[in-house]
Amino acid sequence: MRMLTPRQRIILRQIVSPPYIYRWAGLLTTVGLIVGVATVVLADVGAPTVLATSQGPAVASSATGIRARTVEDAPARGLPGVARPAITASRLAVTSTTTERPTVALTFDDGPNSLYTPQVLDLLAQYRAPATFCMVGDQVAVHPDLVHRVVDEGHRLCDHTMTHDATVGYNDVDLMGRQLAFSRTSLAGVFAPPAPVDYFRAPEGAWTPALDEVSARSGMRPLGWSVDTLDWTQPGVAAIVASVQQQVHPGAIILFHDGGGPREQTVEAVRQLLPWLQEQGYTFTLPN
Ligand SMILES: [Zn+2]
Repeated sequence: MRMLTPRQRIILRQIVSPPYIYRWAGLLTTVGLIVGVATVVLADVGAPTVLATSQGPAVASSATGIRARTVEDAPARGLPGVARPAITASRLAVTSTTTERPTVALTFDDGPNSLYTPQVLDLLAQYRAPATFCMVGDQVAVHPDLVHRVVDEGHRLCDHTMTHDATVGYNDVDLMGRQLAFSRTSLAGVFAPPAPVDYFRAPEGAWTPALDEVSARSGMRPLGWSVDTLDWTQPGVAAIVASVQQQVHPGAIILFHDGGGPREQTVEAVRQLLPWLQEQGYTFTLPN
């Protein structure tokens, strides 16, 4: 080994045996790094657990064993402190009609309702406008007469879950399948023989890829929309009318609500919109 100069020897000694201040700095840096790495690793491990508990709805045991207790069991929307699932777009949903003529498809969700559904049906009859009704099973059970009227007057049925379960898409696939089968059967079973229920609409549009596939596998096409009137927020008749007038386009599927809360504004908006749409040259149709 080559001989070191005195200066090099001093530097080497400082490296091998550094002053205390540097030893402490090195020790603290090492501890800091370990704590940082541990925090990141533990956060990653913990994340899925938190996600699962926040998104998985508690399943309430019932006679059928397939109804999940959800935020929608509460009558009002937007309850404070209730976590909402992220609203995602369906990959498969029908969101427009496809015809040569300028057509528009009207859809009504969250009924049937004893007060508003008959008023909507009267208006639709007046304009010979077929519509799709996305019904909630619990309301179907209370108003089977209205379900009959909807079908008798040439409208279409659409499954909207038993309890307006906006978290259905996050359930285990088997449970999801049983939930959809139950709500569809409940709706179809109002008739003998059962009526066709070929469409499913996710409450609040909260689609997941699994829900897309399960509804298709259940024989129901996912039904979306292209014009959201936001009528359920009760923004005023003028705002509901304007939302349609501004957004409507040939092939549009328009989302209204005939149940789930006060719907006077919706009824009045539909009363104004049906003649307006006709004047614009639109004919009313059902989604493909
Ligand atoms: Zn709904």
